[in-house]
Parts: sequence; structure tokens; C-alpha cells
Amino acid sequence: MEITKKIFEFADELGPEKIVHLYEPRTRMKAIVVIDNVAAGPAIGGVRMALDVTTTEVRRLARAMTYKNIMAGLPHGGGKSGIIADPKTVNKEQVVRTFARGIKSLEEYIPGPDMGTDEASMAYIYDEIARAVGLPRELGGIPLDEMGATGYGVAECAAVAKEYINLDLNGARLTIEGFGNVGKPTARYLAEKGVMLVAASDSKGTIYNPKGLKVEELIRIKDATGSVVNYKDGEVLKTSDLLMISTDIFVPAARPDVISEANSDVLDAKLVIEGANIPITENAEKMLHDRGILVVPDFVANAGGVITASVEYHGGTEAQAFERIKSTIAKNTKEILDKVYSEKTYPRDTALGVARQRVLRAMKYREWM
Ligand code: NAD
Repeated sequence: MEITKKIFEFADELGPEKIVHLYEPRTRMKAIVVIDNVAAGPAIGGVRMALDVTTTEVRRLARAMTYKNIMAGLPHGGGKSGIIADPKTVNKEQVVRTFARGIKSLEEYIPGPDMGTDEASMAYIYDEIARAVGLPRELGGIPLDEMGATGYGVAECAAVAKEYINLDLNGARLTIEGFGNVGKPTARYLAEKGVMLVAASDSKGTIYNPKGLKVEELIRIKDATGSVVNYKDGEVLKTSDLLMISTDIFVPAARPDVISEANSDVLDAKLVIEGANIPITENAEKMLHDRGILVVPDFVANAGGVITASVEYHGGTEAQAFERIKSTIAKNTKEILDKVYSEKTYPRDTALGVARQRVLRAMKYREWM
């Protein structure tokens, strides 16, 4: 397809407003920035560093941020960027600083951490252009992974969603796919509500004990040895076996598209809270819903990280971030699920409709910049 036609193929009523390809010939740094929509305010979105990152992927992620940010009531639009490089082998500081200089003039885009970048990367960007979120504590950052911001929000989401399916959290069984920055705090905060973790997986395998796993001990083992499979008091299974374990609450917190039409029928759960981004294909979500399994979509449930980033950007504290995550995610979960049950719609369709309307309303107040 001719390139101009291809670039505008996905332009719709919301955006994307800018797609910028950066190339710095001296170091050969290549990057893509997509600013999807800034009606609610400057776009916040992560910087992904990977060898295989594409314009299409960045564009989809930027749109997801538009929805997530407006859903969370943040004064921010959505954007995303991708640096085409291998985070394990490049001189990260040099690449990130070059990228930062390249986006200096894109003042309506505020970068944050994503796959392949971290707090230090954000500190370099901040040093170059005085604009970044997810900063180290020394620069006024709120350590969102340390506080378990996203997992905290996932747990608060479950606490509201359970009302709609008559699930008692006390003693409810929990399985978590991906015991990382999202999965670990999800287990911790749900355990505080009486939930029993029966299985957790990572890329090396699954640990399972129907009588319950000790969450703090499992976190300690994962951090010390790199995998949940080294936890003693449980059965070690393959990573993919997790999906077949009967549970009450399932939290996917690893990778996109792990559940599809091909395998959704094996899942035996009452409630799914999406910790990861797009862990279930749209069709599979519908199939689960038709089987009576309630699925709360990613951009409603996993906004804890970006809410914290926004609180940080506006000079707030960690305590304010916790408060904001709880109130926002509880309110949104209730609003969406009230509609789902009264209008008999699918959760994602409902949530997308609500988010889209909010963006369109914000657009009425703004001239294009
Ligand atoms: P992470 O790297 O800290 O943890 C991911 C975990 O998943 C690791 O333990 C890894 O071993 C495991 N894993 C990898 N492949 C797996 C597989 N096939 N099956 C089971 N486990 C597997 O990552 P994270 O920050 O926890 O992010 C997880 C997901 O949540 C990503 O999709 C991310 O985009 C999304 N997300 C993260 C945040 C955040 O605040 N960190 C916020 C919103 C969404």
C-alpha cells in the first residue's frame, strides 16, 4: 500500500494526532512516537524498548492509554513510544538520552517507563527535557512497583466486582498468571482481603497448592531465586498448566493474548480481573462472559500505575496515590458493571463506550493544538 494511505489508515474520530518517526543518523537510534489524543491534557504513556517494536503496536498502545487515562479521570491524553533497540545489549543511557532530545519539541507527550525501560531511563529523560514520570524517589518519584500500585488497584477492582457475582472474598481461591510487578502485589493485597492464593506461574513454571500458598514466602522465594517453582510447599507444574486449575478469581498478569478462542474453554473461574494489557482476545472475552465468567477489562482494572504516575507528575504523595487508585478503580468498576448487568452488554464494549464518550466530551472544549 502507498505509504501515505497506510499511515492514515487508522485515523478515526479520536486520533492518532501525531505519528513521529525519529532517526538519529550518527548513533542510528530509531524510535516511534504516537500521540493519540490530547483533549484531556498532555499525553502520558510509556517508552517501550524492544527490537521488534512496530508503529502498529505503538499506535494500539497509544489508543489504549487514551482510554485508560480518561477512564481514570486523569487530566491526560494518551500516547506511547517505542525505541527499536535491544534493552539487554545497548548502551541504554546513550540511547535514551538521544531519544529524549528527539522528543523535546513534542511538549504534549510525557514519557513513562514500560517494557525495557525503568526509573533510571526516566531520570535520563528528565535530565534532558525536564519531562517524565516514573522517576526515582531521589527526583521526587513515587516508586510504583515498590508500592505495588497496579496490583493494589486490581485487588480493589475485585472487591467491587465480587458483589455482582455473589462471591465471598473470604476463602475465595486465586490463581495468578505472571508473578511479577503486577502479580505479586495483587496476591498480597487480595490476601489482606481473605483470598487464598492456590497457584501462581512465571516463565519457568507454575506452583500449586489447593490448601493455599503463603504469599509473603512466595514473594521472597521469587525475588531470591527468580522463580515461583522454587517454593517448597506445593506441586510444580508447567507454566501453561495454570489455566487448567479450577479457581474463583483468575488474574492474568503476564503477556498479551494468553487466552484466545482456542483455549478459553479450559478456564474454570468465576471472576477474571485483567492485570496485564490485552491478556485475552476480544472474542475469548465474550466467550467467557457467555459462560457466566465475569471479566473486568484491563484499562479499567490495571490503571493503578498510570494513576500513580499522574499523582507524581502533579506533585502528590504516595498516600494520595493509594487513595486515588482505590476511589477511581472502585467507582469505574461499579459504573461499568452496573451498565453491563442492567443493559446486558459485554464488559469491554461497555467500558470502551464510556471511555469514548468521555474523550469526545473532552474534545468539545479543546481546539486542536
Ligand atoms: P514483570 O516483568 O514484572 O512480570 C511479568 C511476570 O510474568 C514475570 O514473573 C515473568 O516470568 C512472567 N511470565 C512471562 N511469560 C509468562 C508466561 N507465558 N506465563 C506466565 N508467566 C509469564 O511485568 P509486570 O510489570 O508485572 O507487567 C505484567 C503485565 O502487566 C504486562 O502486560 C504489562 O504491560 C502490564 N501492566 C503493568 C503495569 C505495571 O504497573 N507494572 C501496569 C499496567 C499493565
